[in-house]
Amino acid sequence: MAEAAMILIVEDEKSLVKVLRYNLEKAGYRVAAAHDGEEGLSAFCRAKPDLVILDLMLPKLDGFEFCKEVRRRAKTPILMLTARKEEVDKVLGLELGADDYVTKPFSVREVLARVKALLRRGGQAAGEVPMRAGSLEVDLERYEVRVGGRPASLSAKEFELLRCFLLAQGKALTREQILERVWGYDRAMDIDTRTVDQHVARLRDKLGPEAGRLITVKNVGYRLKPD
Ligand code: CA
Repeated sequence: MAEAAMILIVEDEKSLVKVLRYNLEKAGYRVAAAHDGEEGLSAFCRAKPDLVILDLMLPKLDGFEFCKEVRRRAKTPILMLTARKEEVDKVLGLELGADDYVTKPFSVREVLARVKALLRRGGQAAGEVPMRAGSLEVDLERYEVRVGGRPASLSAKEFELLRCFLLAQGKALTREQILERVWGYDRAMDIDTRTVDQHVARLRDKLGPEAGRLITVKNVGYRLKPD
Protein backbone atom coordinates (compact mmCIF):
# COMPACT_ATOMS: atom_id res chain seq x y z
CA MET A 1 0.00 0.00 0.00
CA ALA A 2 1.17 3.52 -0.78
CA GLU A 3 2.45 5.54 2.13
CA ALA A 4 -0.11 7.91 3.65
CA ALA A 5 0.05 11.49 2.37
CA MET A 6 2.02 13.91 4.55
CA ILE A 7 0.31 17.15 5.48
CA LEU A 8 2.11 20.13 6.94
CA ILE A 9 0.04 22.52 9.08
CA VAL A 10 1.49 26.01 9.51
CA GLU A 11 -0.69 27.82 12.02
CA ASP A 12 0.12 29.87 15.13
CA GLU A 13 -3.10 29.06 16.98
CA LYS A 14 -2.11 25.94 18.84
CA SER A 15 -5.68 24.86 19.58
CA LEU A 16 -6.42 24.87 15.84
CA VAL A 17 -3.31 22.83 15.09
CA LYS A 18 -4.44 20.33 17.69
CA VAL A 19 -7.93 19.94 16.21
CA LEU A 20 -6.61 19.69 12.65
CA ARG A 21 -3.88 17.24 13.57
CA TYR A 22 -6.30 14.99 15.46
CA ASN A 23 -8.78 14.87 12.58
CA LEU A 24 -6.23 14.51 9.80
CA GLU A 25 -4.49 11.68 11.61
CA LYS A 26 -7.84 10.05 12.24
CA ALA A 27 -8.48 10.28 8.48
CA GLY A 28 -5.22 8.39 7.90
CA TYR A 29 -2.81 11.19 6.97
CA ARG A 30 0.64 11.79 8.40
CA VAL A 31 0.92 15.25 9.95
CA ALA A 32 3.71 17.72 10.66
CA ALA A 33 3.11 21.12 12.25
CA ALA A 34 4.86 24.47 12.62
CA HIS A 35 3.77 27.59 14.50
CA ASP A 36 5.33 30.39 12.49
CA GLY A 37 6.37 31.00 8.90
CA GLU A 38 10.09 30.43 9.35
CA GLU A 39 9.62 27.23 11.28
CA GLY A 40 7.08 26.28 8.60
CA LEU A 41 9.58 26.72 5.81
CA SER A 42 12.19 24.54 7.45
CA ALA A 43 9.51 21.95 8.22
CA PHE A 44 8.51 22.12 4.57
CA CYS A 45 12.04 21.33 3.41
CA ARG A 46 12.44 18.60 6.01
CA ALA A 47 9.05 16.85 5.81
CA LYS A 48 8.50 17.26 2.03
CA PRO A 49 4.72 17.33 2.54
CA ASP A 50 2.19 16.38 -0.12
CA LEU A 51 0.01 19.31 0.92
CA VAL A 52 0.28 22.38 3.15
CA ILE A 53 -2.50 23.86 5.28
CA LEU A 54 -1.39 27.43 5.75
CA ASP A 55 -2.67 30.19 7.99
CA LEU A 56 -2.38 33.62 6.38
CA MET A 57 -1.53 35.69 9.44
CA LEU A 58 1.58 34.18 10.95
CA PRO A 59 4.45 35.49 13.05
CA LYS A 60 7.91 35.98 11.46
CA LEU A 61 7.07 35.06 7.87
CA ASP A 62 3.40 35.55 6.92
CA GLY A 63 1.33 33.27 4.72
CA PHE A 64 1.88 35.37 1.59
CA GLU A 65 5.65 35.24 1.94
CA PHE A 66 5.52 31.57 2.84
CA CYS A 67 3.52 30.82 -0.29
CA LYS A 68 6.02 32.61 -2.49
CA GLU A 69 8.92 30.75 -0.92
CA VAL A 70 7.19 27.40 -1.36
CA ARG A 71 6.29 28.16 -4.97
CA ARG A 72 9.93 28.87 -5.70
CA ARG A 73 10.72 25.32 -4.63
CA ALA A 74 7.71 23.14 -5.44
CA LYS A 75 4.17 22.83 -6.74
CA THR A 76 2.86 21.33 -3.51
CA PRO A 77 -0.85 22.13 -3.11
CA ILE A 78 -1.56 24.85 -0.55
CA LEU A 79 -4.83 25.22 1.30
CA MET A 80 -5.05 28.69 2.87
CA LEU A 81 -6.85 29.45 6.11
CA THR A 82 -8.05 33.04 6.14
CA ALA A 83 -9.73 34.94 8.93
CA ARG A 84 -11.10 37.85 6.95
CA LYS A 85 -13.26 37.94 3.84
CA GLU A 86 -11.20 40.73 2.31
CA GLU A 87 -8.16 38.46 2.32
CA VAL A 88 -9.91 36.00 0.05
CA ASP A 89 -9.41 37.95 -3.19
CA LYS A 90 -5.72 38.20 -2.54
CA VAL A 91 -5.48 34.54 -1.70
CA LEU A 92 -7.23 33.57 -4.89
CA GLY A 93 -4.81 35.55 -7.00
CA LEU A 94 -2.95 32.95 -8.97
CA GLU A 95 0.30 34.83 -8.66
CA LEU A 96 0.27 33.99 -4.97
CA GLY A 97 0.09 30.31 -5.73
CA ALA A 98 -2.46 29.06 -3.19
CA ASP A 99 -4.70 26.33 -4.59
CA ASP A 100 -7.75 26.77 -2.41
CA TYR A 101 -8.87 28.44 0.80
CA VAL A 102 -11.30 28.16 3.67
CA THR A 103 -12.40 31.06 5.83
CA LYS A 104 -12.27 30.91 9.61
CA PRO A 105 -14.18 29.75 11.50
CA PHE A 106 -14.20 26.61 9.39
CA SER A 107 -15.69 23.19 9.89
CA VAL A 108 -13.17 20.37 10.14
CA ARG A 109 -15.31 18.46 7.69
CA GLU A 110 -14.90 21.18 5.11
CA VAL A 111 -11.12 21.22 5.55
CA LEU A 112 -11.00 17.44 5.16
CA ALA A 113 -13.07 17.61 1.97
CA ARG A 114 -10.76 20.23 0.47
CA VAL A 115 -7.64 18.31 1.47
CA LYS A 116 -8.99 15.19 -0.18
CA ALA A 117 -9.89 17.05 -3.37
CA LEU A 118 -6.53 18.83 -3.60
CA LEU A 119 -4.56 15.62 -3.08
CA ARG A 120 -6.61 13.81 -5.70
CA ARG A 121 -6.13 16.65 -8.15
CA GLY A 122 -2.37 16.56 -7.58
CA GLY A 123 -2.27 12.82 -8.15
CA GLN A 124 -4.21 13.11 -11.38
CA ALA A 125 -2.07 15.94 -12.68
CA ALA A 126 0.99 13.74 -12.35
CA GLY A 127 -0.46 11.25 -14.82
CA GLU A 128 0.19 11.17 -18.52
CA VAL A 129 -2.95 12.95 -19.63
CA PRO A 130 -2.59 15.20 -22.66
CA MET A 131 -3.40 18.76 -21.68
CA ARG A 132 -4.51 19.87 -25.11
CA ALA A 133 -7.45 19.63 -27.45
CA GLY A 134 -7.36 21.19 -30.89
CA SER A 135 -5.79 24.61 -30.60
CA LEU A 136 -6.37 24.59 -26.85
CA GLU A 137 -3.27 24.10 -24.70
CA VAL A 138 -3.00 24.00 -20.92
CA ASP A 139 0.27 24.40 -19.08
CA LEU A 140 -0.29 23.05 -15.58
CA GLU A 141 3.01 24.24 -14.21
CA ARG A 142 2.59 27.82 -15.32
CA TYR A 143 -1.17 27.95 -14.91
CA GLU A 144 -1.41 29.10 -18.51
CA VAL A 145 -4.07 28.45 -21.10
CA ARG A 146 -3.63 29.21 -24.78
CA VAL A 147 -6.19 29.13 -27.52
CA GLY A 148 -4.74 29.18 -31.00
CA GLY A 149 -1.41 30.21 -29.48
CA ARG A 150 -2.90 33.22 -27.73
CA PRO A 151 -3.10 33.37 -23.93
CA ALA A 152 -6.59 33.13 -22.40
CA SER A 153 -7.09 34.74 -19.01
CA LEU A 154 -8.88 32.25 -16.74
CA SER A 155 -9.79 32.58 -13.08
CA ALA A 156 -8.52 29.91 -10.68
CA LYS A 157 -11.85 28.07 -10.74
CA GLU A 158 -12.17 28.27 -14.54
CA PHE A 159 -8.69 26.81 -14.81
CA GLU A 160 -9.56 23.94 -12.46
CA LEU A 161 -12.75 23.36 -14.39
CA LEU A 162 -10.89 23.10 -17.67
CA ARG A 163 -8.33 20.77 -16.12
CA CYS A 164 -11.13 18.61 -14.73
CA PHE A 165 -12.67 18.27 -18.23
CA LEU A 166 -9.34 17.43 -19.84
CA LEU A 167 -8.65 14.79 -17.20
CA ALA A 168 -12.02 13.18 -17.92
CA GLN A 169 -10.73 12.58 -21.47
CA GLY A 170 -13.99 13.18 -23.28
CA LYS A 171 -16.26 11.49 -20.75
CA ALA A 172 -19.35 13.38 -19.61
CA LEU A 173 -19.29 14.69 -16.05
CA THR A 174 -22.35 15.39 -13.95
CA ARG A 175 -22.69 18.74 -12.20
CA GLU A 176 -22.20 16.95 -8.88
CA GLN A 177 -18.97 15.33 -10.07
CA ILE A 178 -17.74 18.69 -11.28
CA LEU A 179 -18.61 20.34 -7.97
CA GLU A 180 -16.78 17.67 -6.04
CA ARG A 181 -13.70 17.71 -8.27
CA VAL A 182 -13.37 21.45 -8.72
CA TRP A 183 -14.83 22.86 -5.52
CA GLY A 184 -14.03 19.93 -3.25
CA TYR A 185 -17.50 19.80 -1.75
CA ASP A 186 -19.18 16.51 -1.18
CA ARG A 187 -22.79 16.24 -2.08
CA ALA A 188 -24.12 16.73 1.40
CA MET A 189 -22.75 20.24 1.42
CA ASP A 190 -25.21 22.83 0.35
CA ILE A 191 -24.04 24.37 -2.88
CA ASP A 192 -26.08 25.15 -5.94
CA THR A 193 -25.24 23.19 -9.09
CA ARG A 194 -26.07 26.36 -11.04
CA THR A 195 -22.64 27.54 -9.90
CA VAL A 196 -21.25 24.94 -12.31
CA ASP A 197 -23.41 26.22 -15.17
CA GLN A 198 -22.26 29.79 -14.55
CA HIS A 199 -18.61 28.81 -14.55
CA VAL A 200 -18.98 26.65 -17.65
CA ALA A 201 -20.63 29.55 -19.48
CA ARG A 202 -17.77 31.86 -18.54
CA LEU A 203 -15.19 29.26 -19.51
CA ARG A 204 -16.88 28.79 -22.89
CA ASP A 205 -16.68 32.53 -23.51
CA LYS A 206 -12.98 32.50 -22.83
CA LEU A 207 -12.28 29.51 -25.07
CA GLY A 208 -13.25 31.57 -28.13
CA PRO A 209 -12.89 29.45 -31.28
CA GLU A 210 -12.64 26.26 -29.16
CA ALA A 211 -15.86 27.01 -27.22
CA GLY A 212 -17.72 24.35 -29.22
CA ARG A 213 -15.65 21.61 -27.55
CA LEU A 214 -17.44 22.20 -24.28
CA ILE A 215 -20.63 20.29 -24.91
CA THR A 216 -23.80 20.28 -22.82
CA VAL A 217 -24.97 16.71 -22.28
CA LYS A 218 -28.70 16.89 -21.77
CA ASN A 219 -29.93 15.75 -18.33
CA VAL A 220 -26.36 14.90 -17.33
CA GLY A 221 -23.84 17.72 -17.35
CA TYR A 222 -20.94 18.54 -19.61
CA ARG A 223 -18.10 17.01 -21.56
CA LEU A 224 -15.10 18.36 -23.38
CA LYS A 225 -14.65 16.90 -26.83
CA PRO A 226 -11.05 15.73 -27.24
CA ASP A 227 -9.31 15.50 -30.62
CA1 CA B 1 -2.76 33.37 12.72
